[in-house]
Amino acid sequence: MTEPTLPRIRPEIAALPPYRQGKQAGPDAFKLSSNENPFEPLPSVLEALQTTTPINRYPDASAAALRARLGEKYGVEPDAVHVAAGSVSILHQLVLGTASVGDEVVYAWRSFEAYPSLPLVAGATGVQVPLTSGARHDLDAMADAVTDRTRVVIVCTPNNPTGPVVSSAEFAAFVARVPQDVLIILDEAYAEFVTAPDAVDGLGERVFERHPNVVVLRTFSKAYGLAGLRVGYAIGHPRVLDAARTTGIPLSVTSAAERAAIASLDAEAELRERISVIVERRTRLIGGLRAQGWQVPDSQANFVWLPAGERTDEVAAAFDAADLIVRPFSGDGIRISVGEEESIDRVLAVAKSLL
Ligand code: PMP
Repeated sequence: MTEPTLPRIRPEIAALPPYRQGKQAGPDAFKLSSNENPFEPLPSVLEALQTTTPINRYPDASAAALRARLGEKYGVEPDAVHVAAGSVSILHQLVLGTASVGDEVVYAWRSFEAYPSLPLVAGATGVQVPLTSGARHDLDAMADAVTDRTRVVIVCTPNNPTGPVVSSAEFAAFVARVPQDVLIILDEAYAEFVTAPDAVDGLGERVFERHPNVVVLRTFSKAYGLAGLRVGYAIGHPRVLDAARTTGIPLSVTSAAERAAIASLDAEAELRERISVIVERRTRLIGGLRAQGWQVPDSQANFVWLPAGERTDEVAAAFDAADLIVRPFSGDGIRISVGEEESIDRVLAVAKSLL
């Protein structure tokens, strides 16, 4: 059969690999590849899902109830809050709203896998700044990489997939060096798991108020355990967020997602408890790996980084054979989510056998 003539696709889009998702786990496997929350949904969240607005009706386009609730939590006007179907949507919306052909988007590398596609989709150019040897953001080098073509800089803290945070002092010095007309996205998808007292906390420190070019991103996918419902939010200057509202696909946050997010915010105490369990497991996992001799960076998120380098594929195969679905980055390392209690023992046993 002859190939049909197809519509022309932009070559930079055709060359992009699709978003890579962790493998699905079988019944005896632990899925530790997507930094998900291992806990069952809270009863109050399930209840909220059952009382969702009839599904023959569209959701509220601006998710006003959730924005009001988040506004209350953080002491900002609802217009200073934007919600979308996952914080990855907001990353796209903000980059589309600010960067275009000839513009540059600066981000650290290695970092969140979705970053490279953001400038490409917008027609802009990505500029990757290597992490330090300690797997941390090199904010001095990132500020040096800003040119008069830079429209956006993304700072991921804790950094996915390596785990370290940017400190408040480092971030303050960085913001002071970046021109005020350049958008700084502070991606804090894992903020709720942070325990380091000197870590930047964009919302707690209200960085976005002193610096209207800073937008803070958070998500309900990780600590709140709503990854399957898709809801994330941004807090920042209302006129900056308007750019995201305009470029976003309308009505993408479902009524179910909005209700579940509000119910989760209402269950703060139970969520805090779950977070502290995950943080304890993280401490045990990092301590165990280091005791075996692995050079694990200090993760402040719900995952740890195993810098396996050239051995990454071999190490990943060993985890796979033990029914541990982890996330390998060939030639570099392996990211392992902090999951179920028993998964920690299994990870430690496999890691030990590899040394
Ligand atoms: N930012 C970072 C750093 C992430 O790791 C992720 C999820 N892997 C996201 C944003 C997006 O999360 P979501 O779209 O589920 O809110």
